[in-house]
Amino acid sequence: MNRNLFFWLLSGFLLGGCGDPDSSSKRVQWPTMGTIASVRASSSLSDATSAKRSCEAIFQNQEAIFSAWEESSELSRLNLTAGTGAATECSRDLSHVLVQALALCQESEGAFNPLIGSALRIWGFNGASPVHQQPGGEEIAEALRLADWRQLRTTRASPHSISLQIPVRGMKLDLGAIAKGYAVDLAYAALKSAGCSNLLINLGGNLRAIGEGNQGEGGWRTGIRDPFGKRQVFARFLLRDGEAVATSGNYERFVTIQGRRYAHIIDGRTGIPVRGMAGTTVVAPTAELADGLSTTLFILGAEKGTAFLMRHHPECRAIWIPDTGKETDYAIAGNWQPNHLEILEKP
Ligand code: ADP
Ligand code: MG
Repeated sequence: MNRNLFFWLLSGFLLGGCGDPDSSSKRVQWPTMGTIASVRASSSLSDATSAKRSCEAIFQNQEAIFSAWEESSELSRLNLTAGTGAATECSRDLSHVLVQALALCQESEGAFNPLIGSALRIWGFNGASPVHQQPGGEEIAEALRLADWRQLRTTRASPHSISLQIPVRGMKLDLGAIAKGYAVDLAYAALKSAGCSNLLINLGGNLRAIGEGNQGEGGWRTGIRDPFGKRQVFARFLLRDGEAVATSGNYERFVTIQGRRYAHIIDGRTGIPVRGMAGTTVVAPTAELADGLSTTLFILGAEKGTAFLMRHHPECRAIWIPDTGKETDYAIAGNWQPNHLEILEKP
């Protein structure tokens, strides 16, 4: 099946602006960056359509930088320098995302790991051939050797760029856990500086709010899709003007090996796909941080993740939905305000 079509069929975990019966008439959506993007306007369809035009060009540019699939992307070309001894100056966008990714990596002691590319491939992700049995200990150990982020060397090349040396042949950077969030921030900045108001940008479940969905609300009401499919929405909350939200889940992208499902999020310290978590949602001041943190907190789980959030990102808030199928098992952390998060009862 065509990859874009595949993602059309599996819509994101986050529902943009749910609860508004008029929503579809003021929303435009299109496939991009291996997922679906949409823009909603509170005013009119034509405002959504003109915002889409700005976002479309930005997302295409970002895909040309960050795609792990396209051999011509800046990231793929950078990966080809692994083990050659070359230090490569990265573009402003790639530099920005790499710095943020390495910060999350350091903070999480490698749970979030931008060198996860080789580990993803041994589990059959990122265009690797389908895998019929679980990788063995040696294969995992080799993938972990190639995920040793402590060996990456960065130096500042200019005020807005870094040079990166990837020391070991076969090491593969993968920024799929954070690049979409960054692209949303670029779209947000472009729309704001063009004077746009009251829009909700959504790139594959990475959302950022401009203004509000309904007058006087102070933001956009949005929701987390129920990962167990028992009802449409698991929880509703208000995404305030300027805030971003992202969800990482185990239901949309996975491989099945010997009848067992493995999610596309791999613990960067063990090389093994994370189990036991259905979804993690994070609200943050930027979409790049929300995206990176949703993956990090998915890996860390609720207990370690709460301590991590309080220590490193107390300005953010999170919700974990474990894969137990029991909707009362969720956990929350961070600065949720009273009445800002509504966990919905089963119908
Ligand atoms: P999605 O891309 O579905 O929105 P995420 O933001 O959580 O979900 O990103 C998942 C992607 O992150 C994977 O497809 C892979 O490219 C990358 N990834 C997987 N495991 C890790 C990890 N430990 N650290 C950093 N990136 C990871
Ligand atoms: Mg993410």
